[in-house]
Amino acid sequence: MWFRRDLRLQDNTALTALCEHANSNNAQVSAVFFCTPAQWQSHTTSLVQVDHIIRTLPKLAQSLEKQLNIPLAVYVCDNFSDCTNTIIEICAAKNMSMVMANYEYEGNEIARDEQLTKQLAKNNVEFIRWHDQCILPPKSITTNDGSMYQVFTPFYKKWRHTLDVSTMQAYEAQTVIANDNLNKNLKPFDSTHASANMTKEIETLGNTVVEGYQLRLQQAGIVNIDNTDSDAQLAHARSAYPAGEVAACHRLDQFIAEDITSYDVSRDVPSLNATSQLSAYLTIGSISARHCYLQATKALDNAASTHANKDSNYSENGDNKDINRWISELAWRDFYRHVLVAKPELIRHYAYNKELDSRINWSYNDEDFKAWCSGKTGVPLVDAAMRCLNATGFMHNRLRMVTAMFLTKDLLIDWRLGERYFMQQLIDGDFASNNGGWQWSASTGTDAAPYFRIMNPFSQAKSHDPDGEFIKTWLPELKDVPANILHSEDKLRAAVTKGGKFSHINYPAPMVNHKIARQLAIAAFKGEN
Ligand code: FAD
Repeated sequence: MWFRRDLRLQDNTALTALCEHANSNNAQVSAVFFCTPAQWQSHTTSLVQVDHIIRTLPKLAQSLEKQLNIPLAVYVCDNFSDCTNTIIEICAAKNMSMVMANYEYEGNEIARDEQLTKQLAKNNVEFIRWHDQCILPPKSITTNDGSMYQVFTPFYKKWRHTLDVSTMQAYEAQTVIANDNLNKNLKPFDSTHASANMTKEIETLGNTVVEGYQLRLQQAGIVNIDNTDSDAQLAHARSAYPAGEVAACHRLDQFIAEDITSYDVSRDVPSLNATSQLSAYLTIGSISARHCYLQATKALDNAASTHANKDSNYSENGDNKDINRWISELAWRDFYRHVLVAKPELIRHYAYNKELDSRINWSYNDEDFKAWCSGKTGVPLVDAAMRCLNATGFMHNRLRMVTAMFLTKDLLIDWRLGERYFMQQLIDGDFASNNGGWQWSASTGTDAAPYFRIMNPFSQAKSHDPDGEFIKTWLPELKDVPANILHSEDKLRAAVTKGGKFSHINYPAPMVNHKIARQLAIAAFKGEN
C-alpha cells in the first residue's frame, strides 16, 4: 500500500481493497510513505502542511500496526522518480505482486503513476489505483452529452441527486491475517534513502525532514517574506491542528454537534471561527470527504426527524439550510477536482478562460505584491487577513475571496502570484481548490465572479466584521480606531495621514483608491487598456 494524500485507516478505498485481497489470498501486506522535499518545494507545498503530514505519520504507523497488523515504512526520497525506483526495488526484494494506492489528480502525480504502471508491469507487478479523494469521482458527474459542467449550480444538482439515490457507505479495512509476526521490529527494506518504520524512529526521521525543509525554504527566500515567521506559524499550527485521523474525526463530530446548525449565517463572519476547519485534514487525507458527507447527511436526517416531531409541515427532503449549505461546500471541493481532471492544463498555469486572461496586462510590481503578502496595503480587512495567514497558515474563506480580489482587481497583479503565495503559506493548500478559488476571484475561471463584480474590501469589512473584531485581533495598532472609520476608505485615509486623528499610529494609508482601481480593472477586462 502506497500512502499519499490518504493518511488514514477509516474509509480508505485502496487500503480496504488491499486488506480484502490479502485476506482472501492469504497474502502479506506492507505499507510505504515517501517524504519528497524537492518535489514538495517544486509544488510550493507550505512548511506547515509538510509539518502536518510529518506529524500524522507516527499516528498512522501506530494505528496501522495495532488495528490492521500492517507495518509502515517511511522513506525520504527527494523527488517522484526516486519514489518509483524505490517501489520497484521493494517489490523485487520482497517478492510483491501488487501495489495499491488511491488516485492523485495533479499532472506530475499522474505522469509518475503512469510511468510506474509500465515499469511494474515489466516485472509482472500490478499497480492498482482507486478513486478516493472525492465524494463522487472525477468524470462521474457530466452533462447529458458527457461533457464537464462549467457552472457549479447544475453540477451540484446532479451531484446531489446522484448521491440521494445512492446507498453510499464508508469503507472499513479488515485486519490482515497473514501478516501475523511479519516484519515486526524489522528494518524497512534497505534502500539508499533514509528510512524508518518504528513509531519512534518515524518521529525522529520526521523531525529531521521538517527541519531540512524549513532550511530549504529559508535558503530559497520563501519563508522569510517580511513578517512571516515560520517558527511561530509552525507553533500555531501544531496546537491548532492536532495530527491524525482521530483528531480529524473528533473535529468533525464537534462541528456537527455544535456549529453546523448555524453554518449558513455564521460561515461568513471570520471572527466567529464557525466553519469546520477540516480543510487541513481533508487536504492530506486524514479524514475522507465521503465520511464528512455521510455524517452531515445523518445530521440532516436527525434535524428532519426532530423537526417533524414538532412540526408536521416540515418537509422530509432535508430542508435544512445550514447542513445543506455545508454539504454544498464539500461539493465545491469535488467540483474543482472534476474541473482539474477535465482541464489538466490548469496545472501548467493556464487560465481556464484563456481569452479573458490574455486581455489583462497583469502587473508584476514587486513592491505592491510584497505589501499585499505582508499585510501592509493600508486596507484593514486585507491586511488583517494576510497577517492571519502568515501567522497561522489558515485564512477564512470570505477573506480568501476578499484578498484574492484585492490582488487581482485593485492591484491588477497576476493571480498566479497570489495562487503561489497561498500555497506557500496555507496548511490546507490544495492545487484544485486553490486554483479554482483564485481563478474564481480573478474572473478567469469556471463559474467565475463576473469581472464587473468586484468586492469592495471596506464594505466587505462592514458586512462581515461589523465591530472590527477580526481586524483588531490581527492589527492591534488599530485597536482604538472606531469601526465606522475602519469601514470607510475616505475616513481611514484622512485619519492615518498627516494631521489626522490617528496619524501617530504606525498604519499606512490605503495604497489604492478602490473606486478608481475598480474602474481601471473593468476597463482592463473589457480590453480597453
Ligand atoms: P468549511 O466551510 O467548513 O467547508 C467544509 C469543506 O468544504 C472545507 O474543508 C473544504 O474542503 C470544502 N470547501 C469549502 N469551501 C470550498 C471552496 N470554495 N472550494 C473548494 N472546497 C471548499 N480550500 C482548500 O481546501 N485548499 C486551498 O488551497 C484553498 N484555496 C482557496 C483559495 C481561494 C482564493 C479561495 C477563494 C478559496 C480557497 N479554498 C481552498 C476554499 C475555502 O476557502 C477553504 O476550503 C475553506 O476556507 C476551509 O475552511 P473550512 O474547512 O472551515 O471550510
